[in-house]
Amino acid sequence: TQAPPAKTRGSPLSDCDRVFTNLYGRHDWRLKAAMCRGDWYMTKAILQKGSDWIVNELKVSGLRGRGGAGFPTGMKWSFMNKPSDGRPKYLVINADEGEPGTCKDREIMRHDPHKLVEGALIAGRAIGAQAAYIYIRGEFYNEASNLQVAIAEAYQAGLIGKNACGSGYDFDVFVHRGAGAYICGEETALIESIEGKQGKPRLKPPFPADVGLFGCPTTVNNVETIATSPTICRRGGAWFASFGRPRNHGTKLYNISGHVNTPCTVEEEMSIPLKELIERHAGGVIGGWDNLLAVIPGGSSTPLIPKDVCETVLMDFDALVAAQSSFGTAAIIVMDKSTDIVKAIARLIMFYKHESCGQCTPCREGVSWMNKIIYRFIDGNASPKEIDMLWEISKQIEGHTICALGDGAAWPVQGLIRHFRPELERRMAQYACTYGPSKAERLH
Ligand code: NAD
Ligand code: SF4
Repeated sequence: TQAPPAKTRGSPLSDCDRVFTNLYGRHDWRLKAAMCRGDWYMTKAILQKGSDWIVNELKVSGLRGRGGAGFPTGMKWSFMNKPSDGRPKYLVINADEGEPGTCKDREIMRHDPHKLVEGALIAGRAIGAQAAYIYIRGEFYNEASNLQVAIAEAYQAGLIGKNACGSGYDFDVFVHRGAGAYICGEETALIESIEGKQGKPRLKPPFPADVGLFGCPTTVNNVETIATSPTICRRGGAWFASFGRPRNHGTKLYNISGHVNTPCTVEEEMSIPLKELIERHAGGVIGGWDNLLAVIPGGSSTPLIPKDVCETVLMDFDALVAAQSSFGTAAIIVMDKSTDIVKAIARLIMFYKHESCGQCTPCREGVSWMNKIIYRFIDGNASPKEIDMLWEISKQIEGHTICALGDGAAWPVQGLIRHFRPELERRMAQYACTYGPSKAERLH
């Protein structure tokens, strides 16, 4: 496909280069209006081009999974291109958006549900699936309701179901509502939950591509990833790849919350500088850029970055790893100087302690210990050596658990100690001056 010239860096993304044309719900989200905005256009032709063509177009686009891990989508879909020993193949769409700070998939399902339904059909064709299961967070009542209406409209118009779009391909879409557990957003816990079991993550490998839903080959993708794929197929992988920079291509939904003047969800180019994103779309930091303390760049699991790093860092997978953080879900939480940074991170650790499924010891016990220690800092009962103890526990959790929840709890603590150790020490000194030695120090 011929790619249009890449846009000039530094200029805002133009509306005609946005994938999500109804992000703010200014237009009708139902089928007729969605079709007027370009959804379901040439879908039959795309399906008839076949699996290899679709997978190749996704590879050319450079799209990386938008759920947080950034696994290349085209490569993931190509894993399904092997004999399944007579087992059906499934597409599972992860709509259990639970990462604190993240609310992008919610906007897609509420205001642009046909993009997701069409994406499910195209992804299903690419991986040879007979059906898609959309696992939606239980609290998303309105979103589930809109999605269900969009699915019903698509069935009625012959766009999905038997002979979908007249392509000769049969494809069903089911919605499964969750019941409020954060851990069910982990892909294998989610599969267990659809199967009617407790949402507890499985050991990987085997990956779902080999043994997934009901023991069958399965691709699990995030809502934004799937909803982006029809536009990539229509406009060409090269068009999508013309945004961003190598290994970090395309456009992306960013959530900007916290101490900014106008919190928002916005679609922008990958690799946009963080500062530019906040100033252009969120009205800047409350009290001005100099009032910035730190930013959590990609949802609560990603380590915070202090102001000096925020000055220059780009919003993409590679730049944020280089900044000792990660891109995650691109949910940016801005904290100004009024923030009690220790309390803010402690609140996140309490969340992870509550949401741990408890099946592996480093996560179950370790996150509990981190929670106890960090609250001792808040109460003024910690001893100085507990900073290193907290660091050590977080290192014992990281990489030693079945799923990424353990890492997600360890990384915010590591970010706190890496960048705000003097603040932890200052609090202990201040508390000791005011109230005398802490309980922990009295005992040692
Ligand atoms: P992961 O790196 O283990 O896997 C990413 C995807 O690639 C999975 O689908 C996995 O099956 C596939 N994969 C990886 N290696 C493979 C291989 N060798 N063969 C076949 N498939 C392979 O990450 P994860 O545990 O799925 O996700 C962790 C991320 O989720 C975190 O970085 C966090 O940012 C994010 N997260 C998002 C939310 C949300 O609400 N969107 C909530 C919590 C966490
Ligand atoms: Fe459960 Fe935590 Fe282990 Fe994940 S890391 S499987 S949430 S105990």
